Amino acid sequence: MAVPTIVLPNGVEIPQIGLGVFLMEDPDETSWAVKHAVYTGYRHFDTAAIYGNEEVLGTALKESGLIREQLFITSKLWNNMQGYEKTKLALEETLAKLGTDYLDLYLIHWYGLDVKGSWLAMEELYEAGKIKAIGVSNFTIDHLESMKEYATIKPMINQVETHPYFPQDELREYMQNEGIVHEAWGPLSQGKTDLLLHPVLQSIADKYQKTTAQIVLRWHVERGTVIIPKSVHPGRISENFAITDFTLTEEDMQEIATINMETRFGRIPNDHEFIERTSKG
Ligand code: NAD
Repeated sequence: MAVPTIVLPNGVEIPQIGLGVFLMEDPDETSWAVKHAVYTGYRHFDTAAIYGNEEVLGTALKESGLIREQLFITSKLWNNMQGYEKTKLALEETLAKLGTDYLDLYLIHWYGLDVKGSWLAMEELYEAGKIKAIGVSNFTIDHLESMKEYATIKPMINQVETHPYFPQDELREYMQNEGIVHEAWGPLSQGKTDLLLHPVLQSIADKYQKTTAQIVLRWHVERGTVIIPKSVHPGRISENFAITDFTLTEEDMQEIATINMETRFGRIPNDHEFIERTSKG
């Protein structure tokens, strides 16, 4: 079954399931994983300048034989390149590394020291056609509200930690009202928790003859969230994609809602020490 797409506020369609490439550090392994993903049917890839693998990703995608228009490529502006001029430079570097002349989606990675300058540059780059859609990552409601003072274009997407232990219901409702698409990073909780062993997920998985990872990913899809699960293992890359041949019932969704821990396991958005440290240079 075809991968569903979500329509961004400007009409651009983003495939709802993509491959995240965070922590893919070995070039051969990364290249192999990306090619396996393309073979499996993935067309959406999520990288970032800070991941250090834009070049490997770009080359692997070229070698996979698809044409550029068949792909949806996201990258992110790192904290040390925030600011009007530096953002334009950063995009040029990213495009050169990926070997492409446009990005499908460019995100401000964290709410750093010059979000306004970066956003104004991104609006221009968007108008110039170098980026098909623009958004942010790790932004809170307050961060998004503060952008209203200067943004001509509203962020089209916000990529934030989200999984059944941290469903982000409040932010999600706010974004729904604002027309900002919800994208989940760490959709499987990054392998940092016992999520995939949870008995509620296990019993639903048994019912559908699926794995708990597939139940979690399907839960995201039912909620209209864009997901970019990461794996370098061919079996898991395929497994994470094979979630379009079943649906969860309202009852399943309600059961999964009961395991919410209201706890994030990744970095908090307002980690000032981290922002200061990573904004240098
Ligand atoms: P994830 O939730 O996708 O978890 C990845 C880990 O889950 C893998 O390393 C593996 O151990 C395990 N896993 C994957 N598939 C599995 C399966 N089928 N069964 C069992 N275990 C499985 O976490 P992530 O990689 O951190 O997040 C996904 C993507 O989101 C990243 O690759 C990156 O592109 C993006 N991301 C963005 C930010 C941000 O600040 N914007 C932060 C983290 C990640």
